[in-house]
Amino acid sequence: MTELFDRRDANVIMDRCDELAAYTSLPDGIERVYLSPEHARVNALADGWMREVGMDTWQDAAGNQCGRLEGRVPGLPALLVASHLDTVPGAGRYDGILGVLSAIAVVGRLTAGELPFAVEVVAFGDEEGTRFGTTLLGSRALAGQWNPEWTELTDHTGETLWDAAIGFGLDPSRIADAARDPATLVGYLEAHIEQGPRLESAGRALGVVTSIAAARRLSITLVGEARHCATPWELRHDALLGASEAIVAIERIARANGSPATVGHIRVEPDAVNVIPGLAEFSLDLRDESAEGRDATWALILTDLERIADARGLTLEVTETHSAPAVHCATELRDDIRAGIIATGDEHPLELFSIAGHDAMAVAAITDVAMLFVRCRGGISHHADESVLVEDVALAVDALHAAVLATAARHS
Ligand SMILES: [Zn+2]
Repeated sequence: MTELFDRRDANVIMDRCDELAAYTSLPDGIERVYLSPEHARVNALADGWMREVGMDTWQDAAGNQCGRLEGRVPGLPALLVASHLDTVPGAGRYDGILGVLSAIAVVGRLTAGELPFAVEVVAFGDEEGTRFGTTLLGSRALAGQWNPEWTELTDHTGETLWDAAIGFGLDPSRIADAARDPATLVGYLEAHIEQGPRLESAGRALGVVTSIAAARRLSITLVGEARHCATPWELRHDALLGASEAIVAIERIARANGSPATVGHIRVEPDAVNVIPGLAEFSLDLRDESAEGRDATWALILTDLERIADARGLTLEVTETHSAPAVHCATELRDDIRAGIIATGDEHPLELFSIAGHDAMAVAAITDVAMLFVRCRGGISHHADESVLVEDVALAVDALHAAVLATAARHS
């Protein structure tokens, strides 16, 4: 029996988080995107760590790094314990990464043949969607949700996903082969930093996730007329002024309706100092506790965008790039996570709703999912200031291990 508050695993995890942070495409800061050279390098590192704890390893058809520890007999269905290794630009060291490394540490506490199922660790290659603008590519491939048209997606240099996959050593026509058969799965667990301040304000290290927000991403384009800056006000159709007004309206409406909304990208054409922008294109990430709430907020936003476009003589185009319903964590697996946290000494684990999306959302299409949240300082994530306590990481590994044992007890 492993001792609680064993910090050895946590120390190893913290060191590995630092080690992985060095694999970045940015000279100053962390960025690691799907199908990049850095992706290949961290997969190779994770492969070594998985082997070290006795797992058979492989990289699947979508570039996800996988490892498997057999159960009582070879070939049993598997409990997946997973998260992602890709990052946003200017990322921290823990988002996604902590979940993968904790999963490997848990396997290090198990022995082959011990459990009534196999345990597989998956390090997803794309959760954030940073490179191709579409999220959860790795987990959606595993969940049998791969859309062949995604190979035509391009990154900011114009390189297609198809070509990037070839460069990475994958066969882009066979990415869908990463799909798992639901009959071969027991369920899915994921540990992740909270990305919010609720655990910290409650003085808790860990929390049980109840469900994951319904999220939607849209690309919004306003088209007016590019004209020289000598053009009088009344003749202007300035797409950037329309976008500015639209973005402020989005904040007002989303705040009033309690739906987290973010405009994180904007681009103008022709992008010249003395030319009125003829086109402005920006992103909208909109979330809510339920799909109904989210869509009600979007309907109000859309009405306002149409009004703004109309008033300025602009045309409005909206393209949806991502949409996911709220995902509810499965009752039994959620109870296993709760039991895991209780095993660390927190008798009444805090339950929280996840505003952020996670790989678990995609995997929910093929098996039951549950998540464990780990406190992070100030609720900061997707930023270099992302920070976790080594004590909390130790508790997370203990809880995740105990949760896997609770799942095993149910299957015995
Ligand atoms: Zn993440």
